[in-house]
Amino acid sequence: MREIRLHDTLTGELRLLELRQPGKVGIYACGPTVYARIHVGNARPYVVFALLKRFLEREGLDVTLVENVTDVNDKIYDAACEAGVPSAELAREMTAHYVADTDRLDLGRPDHEPLAADTVEGIVDLIQVLIDSDHAYAAGGDAYFRVASFPGYGKLSNRPFEEMEQGEGDDAADLKESPRDFALWKAHKEGEDTSWPAPWGEGRPGWHIECSAMAEELLGTDFEIHGGGSDLVFPHHENEIAQTEAARGQPLARIWMHNGMVKMGSEKMAKSVGNIHLLHAALDEFGRDALIMYFVGGHYRQPLAFSPDGLAEAGRAVDRVRELCRRLERDAQAPAGLGTYADRLFDSLADDFNTAAARAALFDCVADANRRLDAGETVGPGRLPEMLHALGLENLLDADEHVADPNAERLMAEREQARADRDFARADALRDELAALGW
Ligand SMILES: [Zn+2]
Repeated sequence: MREIRLHDTLTGELRLLELRQPGKVGIYACGPTVYARIHVGNARPYVVFALLKRFLEREGLDVTLVENVTDVNDKIYDAACEAGVPSAELAREMTAHYVADTDRLDLGRPDHEPLAADTVEGIVDLIQVLIDSDHAYAAGGDAYFRVASFPGYGKLSNRPFEEMEQGEGDDAADLKESPRDFALWKAHKEGEDTSWPAPWGEGRPGWHIECSAMAEELLGTDFEIHGGGSDLVFPHHENEIAQTEAARGQPLARIWMHNGMVKMGSEKMAKSVGNIHLLHAALDEFGRDALIMYFVGGHYRQPLAFSPDGLAEAGRAVDRVRELCRRLERDAQAPAGLGTYADRLFDSLADDFNTAAARAALFDCVADANRRLDAGETVGPGRLPEMLHALGLENLLDADEHVADPNAERLMAEREQARADRDFARADALRDELAALGW
């Protein structure tokens, strides 16, 4: 097994993946809040962590991937109220859409997809431990985390005190000891149609405690990787750290891994900004393969621009791979030397899961294989299947699929004919035309 390093937001460093138990890795990635269909930006962590699991499994590790569904949340109450449907019904409907939409990415499902509504007992127990140890207090039927009781508060996001805005509005300002304190439990309010009993009052959990409880229930504490979008660093993950560490005396996770945002122009793709491209519409428009190629084209930590041009480029990249697969001799050996690209690909993934560098290794392999085929060599698939599998693109090996760009397909056929006719000037001219199309 390679040494695997990942960037840890908590220390700001690349850290060696160190396991609690030999051979076992637990990953918790924050999943969607189900109040609407998910967009391309929401799909990014789904893809990143599905492929990370794949890579770690290839390295021989036994991976448990947990991705929760936040089905109790202010946003859901608000959206259900607007739509005139019960909040639990809206959450169920949107959870079903989420599963169906992400199934179309064809990357497998997480091992566990816990629902907050199914975890309320564990959440209440965790809050009780915090109250009993003075890390939290009940007030007016709510419960709040006492930030001043946890000296490590702020260590993940490293932000100055005045920027620690919990985003909870002013409703509860009178109940909080300090504006930095955040809600663990909210008393039942008029207009909210679900609630659960708790020793300090009927109500429902806050968002942050839901994740602390779901993660602990399935992975314990001090598990290997906690992930999510970089927009969750503060307050969500900062608060998860505080809650679990204060209650259990153990860190929640070892490595905090955050993916960059999908952007439209200079802004993050977000429902609140109003610039979203829904995942199911993007799948209809560009196809699953182009979307996966697009996602792996960026380093997970960097922002990723979403544009029709970018997706079209990803579609052409898919076609290039598929065209090579069509040219391969299935039963033949790959020439010596082609295997080094696979090593480069997996080394890139071991180095902070750099799928962009891995994709570059794949295309150097494609170019090399094409050169050899052009020179008349016989080329077998070699390690291409494992390279494609690592990037979620193993289905491109299916040679029966047609290339998506009919213009390029025609030029390729003409080039093959020119080569067969030994008209090399014509073949070269056609190659230049193809290159101009991005081939
Ligand atoms: Zn979460």
